Amino acid sequence: MDWHLDRLLKLPDMTVVKVQEIEGLIFLSLESLKEGIICPHCENYTEDVHQTREVLVRDLSICGRGVYLKVPRRQFICSECGRYTTEELEGMVFKRHHTERYEEYVYGRVVATTVKQVSREEQLKEDEIQAIFEAVSEEKNQKNWQPVKHIGLDEISTAKGQKKYRAVVSDLDKKCLIDVIASRTQEELIEVLSQQPKDIREKVEEVCIDMWGGFVKVIEEVFPNAIIVYDRFHVMKMVNKRLNEIRCKLGMRAKGMRHLLLSNREDLTKEEKEELSRLLKDYPILQIAYEEKEELREIYERTRTISGGTRKLRRWLKNAEVFYGEICETIRQHFEGICHYFINRTTNGAMEGLNNRSRVILRQTYGLRNFQHLRSRLLAANH
Ligand SMILES: [Zn+2]
Repeated sequence: MDWHLDRLLKLPDMTVVKVQEIEGLIFLSLESLKEGIICPHCENYTEDVHQTREVLVRDLSICGRGVYLKVPRRQFICSECGRYTTEELEGMVFKRHHTERYEEYVYGRVVATTVKQVSREEQLKEDEIQAIFEAVSEEKNQKNWQPVKHIGLDEISTAKGQKKYRAVVSDLDKKCLIDVIASRTQEELIEVLSQQPKDIREKVEEVCIDMWGGFVKVIEEVFPNAIIVYDRFHVMKMVNKRLNEIRCKLGMRAKGMRHLLLSNREDLTKEEKEELSRLLKDYPILQIAYEEKEELREIYERTRTISGGTRKLRRWLKNAEVFYGEICETIRQHFEGICHYFINRTTNGAMEGLNNRSRVILRQTYGLRNFQHLRSRLLAANH
């Protein structure tokens, strides 16, 4: 009817034929500009409307007033094959009686505030707001997966001493969360991850994990073309832990020593470096163990090829055997995956902060309903 209103409405092939205001709400009656549809069964064009049902759809508010669209949903009967087809309309979520843009808006408000707050603003029940939020999140999560080449898989235990785990999946290129999965077993994890389409899973090139989680089997099943990369920070963490044990055993408890020893040498100030060499003079064993730690870090830092990395790491293992025996054994057992780091320098390092925050939030969840909600919030917040 009115060109201005249609432009305001911005829905393809729909025109506004009537505007009403009832109790502070705006009702826009729409009509389709298309005469007919292509029959999805036989591709015949048909204009034979079998019946029309008027559906009320919530849309974005105008000037602070709630807006409802009266949308005609037409069911066509094909003159060629005789089958019935209900017309699809762009921008509508008929299932929940909202426009897509309205749901997108509600989602954004929930991310910024709370379900309760949005429920008040929109005068919808909290359950409805929650349902919208979860549905939009789910759609967005599907999109997170495509295309992803480098994945980080991490395990978070939700409570100390409890065998409840959440697997956190992240996109290491975009540095964002892809998914949080409540899983207790490898089988469950495989089942959930397998829900992603095969062609998406086949495009994953690398999956970065630590050495403890039982992820190897999962990766082989779910990401058939991915190579496993053992996280360099996990390796360094083990070495640092051992170095600190050696320090304690030697009774080297000078103030600030732990910090000086475990920090990256290049991060220390000139004074700190001098202080460290002065303290290490009386502890030759600790001095050697320290140099070996730094050498490993240098290998990680400076090596640019897998052949170079493999060669240097082998040499390191020989030298470090005396003080880092057990760790050397672990490295040998995971040698190939550890060396895969040197291909693309893939690491979960950048995800550490994010994963720690997730851990804190996930530890506060009890029960699955609550988990689903928190999962959505985590994913929404970490893009
Ligand atoms: Zn047909």
